Amino acid sequence: ADGLVESVPDEFQDQVARVLLSEERIGARVKELGAQIGEAYRDQPLVILGVLTGSYMFVADLTRAIPLSKLEVYFIKASSYEGTGSSGQVKLSGLDHVDLTGRHVLIVEDIVDTGLTLQKLKQAVRELDCKSVAACTLLHKNTSRRLEGTPPVEFVAFEIADEFVVGYGLDYNQSLRHLPFVGIFRTKSAS
Ligand code: 5GP
Ligand code: MG
Ligand code: MG
Repeated sequence: ADGLVESVPDEFQDQVARVLLSEERIGARVKELGAQIGEAYRDQPLVILGVLTGSYMFVADLTRAIPLSKLEVYFIKASSYEGTGSSGQVKLSGLDHVDLTGRHVLIVEDIVDTGLTLQKLKQAVRELDCKSVAACTLLHKNTSRRLEGTPPVEFVAFEIADEFVVGYGLDYNQSLRHLPFVGIFRTKSAS
């Protein structure tokens, strides 16, 4: 099914250039990753820290695929992006409402681009005396913008090329998050 080129639904043709990851492909990979996370933590209680807003769909699907009996899910907010360019700053909120002392924490992100958001997050979580901190991302961008010294990502669903993507939680100015697939954003050409 991998050679299949899926087409963008008519109503999104003017905003999405092409489908990068189909709903089916995402579903299969998320199940695989969920099982892998279950293996990694075995019978230990796990705290999932979803990063809003981009990870909401991924967290919903991923947590249902993690075969652990003790799992808690929290969401925090991180914002750094304006339009299709990074602002170079990260605002975190919501961490103060979660007690992570002595817990195994898995941060779940939508996409790692420069790595700055994840770096700030891992730092902030580590300061809360948890037992371990790891990161999981739906998308890991192969980009020259990756900042030096940014932390490794332990669980990656897909490595992607350096293009601006939307869908499955990822937005363009708050819209297009609800696409069930990941697509390449259609950049409007000035004419
Ligand atoms: P960072 O540069 O800190 O690794 O990524 C920060 C945030 O930028 C991501 O969590 C995501 O919200 C946004 N971002 C980075 N690349 C893309 C992209 O290709 N598409 C969308 N929609 N957001 C992106
Ligand atoms: Mg994000
Ligand atoms: Mg965004």
